[in-house]
Amino acid sequence: APRPANNVPLTPLDLLERTIEAHPERPAVVWRDRSLTYRAFGRMVARFASFLLDRGVGPGDVVSVIAPNRPEMLAAHYAVPMIGAVLNTINTRLETETVSYILDHAEARLLIADPAFIDTARTAASAAGVPLVVLSAGDGAAASDGLDLFAEDVQVAVDYRAFVRDEWQPICLNYTSGTTGRPKGVVYHHRGAYLNALGNVLALGLDRHSVYLWTLPMFHCNGWCHTWAVTAAAGLHVCLDRVDPALIFAAIERHGVTHLSCAPVVLYMLLNHPASRKKEVSRKVRVATGGAAPTSALIAQMEALGFDLIHLYGLTESYGPATLCELDGTAGLDVEEKAQLLARQGFRHVTGSRVRVVDSAGADVARDGTTTGEIVLAGNTLMAGYYRDEAATAGAFAGGVFHTGDLAVVHGDGRIEIKDRAKDVIISGGENISSLEVENVLHRHPAVLIAAVVAAPDPKWGEVPCAFVELKEPEAVTAEELTAFCRERLAGFKVPKRFVFGELPKTATGKIQKFLLRAEAAVAAGT
Ligand code: ADP
Repeated sequence: APRPANNVPLTPLDLLERTIEAHPERPAVVWRDRSLTYRAFGRMVARFASFLLDRGVGPGDVVSVIAPNRPEMLAAHYAVPMIGAVLNTINTRLETETVSYILDHAEARLLIADPAFIDTARTAASAAGVPLVVLSAGDGAAASDGLDLFAEDVQVAVDYRAFVRDEWQPICLNYTSGTTGRPKGVVYHHRGAYLNALGNVLALGLDRHSVYLWTLPMFHCNGWCHTWAVTAAAGLHVCLDRVDPALIFAAIERHGVTHLSCAPVVLYMLLNHPASRKKEVSRKVRVATGGAAPTSALIAQMEALGFDLIHLYGLTESYGPATLCELDGTAGLDVEEKAQLLARQGFRHVTGSRVRVVDSAGADVARDGTTTGEIVLAGNTLMAGYYRDEAATAGAFAGGVFHTGDLAVVHGDGRIEIKDRAKDVIISGGENISSLEVENVLHRHPAVLIAAVVAAPDPKWGEVPCAFVELKEPEAVTAEELTAFCRERLAGFKVPKRFVFGELPKTATGKIQKFLLRAEAAVAAGT
């Protein structure tokens, strides 16, 4: 049947427009001592869009932004696509050379930077030949050549309908963290962003009373699409200057936070902070964690503190969340059993793509909880492709499904459980060792804050597990004690042959950079 003539493109811009219509006086965003209602936020967005038009930015142009979570960063998620341009948010922790590579590869039309990152921004922008605009410091000081979107609350009209005519049009360009080679530019379309935003509203249970604390960087997969989801629900965005446990606990009390999302590593920081020992959090906060596997020990401890956990799994290529795990009908299970269920990656995300676990021939693996296969995705919330990289796009979509490179099993109840990333599996004497399984055991030791297990080359076994461990207190445990602890709980060949103590290298989203650890393990092994 033909599409109805009044069909309109699916776009997250519509979600903001609707919230401004229906809830103009609701608080939209708070940051430091500033706060904007949805009406005022809508004006900020329109001023931002008209500024971009004045600077000659037009449909299809890429606008790069390097900034922490602040109202202008949120506004960029609407202002840039509103004029048909494409938003490219850049990880604030990247080294200058990579930022300039991204600006160059993306053919950015403009770079907008927060003053905190001015040195990197200036060097990278000039190397790539991209004009730079600096945001005001936000402290009221006038920016002479910069952009102060708080300056005057004037009304400007920009109608996105003139620029967004097709829901498949690109909305964002997000570069992967580039753990293996150069970062790749993942292209999102308006339709996928809209669908994942609505899926998030349902998954997190957001509504107009929701108070969402930004502990996740908005530059990472557009904050898993929560930048649009919280707005769709007319909830409040609370921006933090830094991800710091004391600030997080304070913000929860001060703003009445109901939701937050973060990688498991942030939860370890929360649990290790004195505030978590003093008392339970005084209200129920729903925490969506993902980006790396949370252990069941972590989940159990967070729940004991009064947090309500849901578990998400996904990739940059899937607009963030692709699966969702929450507990339903678990009466009769004890805390540990519930935590183990919640540590699985679960079922497909509400509006997400279909999730299957397949063998090398592309057939579904048995639902037996032991046969491992690769997770593949197919559906509406997958990237359009890698920007200017047809070979990589074709490879990722080989056989018509998106290949995640993650290895998982399917349990009898239909929940999937990740065993490892294909490239993180340790193969010792022909036996596969799941690095996650060994890490799970180490995390159960009371002295361990975070553990990461990688392959170290070994002349006899090919590879052996090597553990890198960050302790809660220095020297609280020895390698011998951890070896004994693992021996009681793991088959001999899975016990790490070497323990290295110290702080673990992490990405901006708090993922452990295993590729660095692998290199270190190789050096330590003398290869
Ligand atoms: P990068 O691949 O550079 O780390 P992504 O943010 O796209 O960037 O990472 C996606 C990967 O993170 C997934 O392929 C998976 O290996 C891992 N991951 C994400 N969420 C989870 C989770 N809940 N459990 C286990 N692994 C996860």
